[in-house]
Amino acid sequence: MKGKVIVSKFWTRFFSVGKARAITIFPFIFLLEKSCKKETILLNHERIHIQQALELCILPFYLWYLVEFIYRFIRLQDFHQAYLHICFEREAYVHEKDFSYLRKRRYWSFLKYL
Ligand SMILES: [Zn+2]
Repeated sequence: MKGKVIVSKFWTRFFSVGKARAITIFPFIFLLEKSCKKETILLNHERIHIQQALELCILPFYLWYLVEFIYRFIRLQDFHQAYLHICFEREAYVHEKDFSYLRKRRYWSFLKYL
C-alpha cells in the first residue's frame, strides 16, 4: 500500500504541529507543497510509515508513536531529538533512500530500532 498523497499546507501543519513538510495519517500522506511530490526520498520515508501503521492496525501505531515520543522527550529534553529517536522514525530514516526496502522488509521491522 502506497498511501494517497494529498497536498495541503493546512493539514500538514495541523497534524505535524507546524514541524514537518510531510506527515502520514493513514491512509493519507499529507505534503506541505506540490513540489514535495517530486521528492522521492521523502515519499519513500512516508510510505515506510504507511506500512508500519498497517502492521499495527493503524490506531495502535499512532498511540505507540505518541507514547514513545513522550518517553523520549522526557529523557532527551529536546523535541527534535525525541522525534528522531522514535523507532518508527529511525527505521524510516535509515531506509528512506532504499527504494526497494518496502518490497524486502519483514513485518514489524521497526522493533529493531527500539
Ligand atoms: Zn517520519
